[in-house]
Amino acid sequence: MGLVSLEMEDLEIEIEADQDQDGDQSRNELVTLLAQTEGISPMAVCRLLQAKVFYYSAQWKLCALEILERDRYVCQHCGRFLRELVAQGSYLMVHHIHSPFAMPERAFEPTNLLTLCNCCHINGIHDKP
Ligand SMILES: [Zn+2]
Ligand SMILES: [Zn+2]
Repeated sequence: MGLVSLEMEDLEIEIEADQDQDGDQSRNELVTLLAQTEGISPMAVCRLLQAKVFYYSAQWKLCALEILERDRYVCQHCGRFLRELVAQGSYLMVHHIHSPFAMPERAFEPTNLLTLCNCCHINGIHDKP
């Protein structure tokens, strides 16, 4: 794991989908297949696919780096610095206060973004259902 992990939210499904070659039909087949194999709804699969495209985009990576710089590589919740976190097996990520899928217009807005360590991110910011 690198020093900094860009936030992937709860993305666990890894797929290779070539956007240029796959038409709507093969995308629908993929969604159906993933929904069955993962035991989640097709809508949840679509969200994950959307998340994958978003978090792997060059625009997001650049934006996240700017936020890390802005926050000086310090978790804005517990105040631990990157070097200290890495020594303890943790890392930093950039969190969206409002989900980029609920509010796409704020996806790259600095006031909607926050540097957090993975511990604070999991244990307080995102309440797991
Ligand atoms: Zn923290
Ligand atoms: Zn988050």
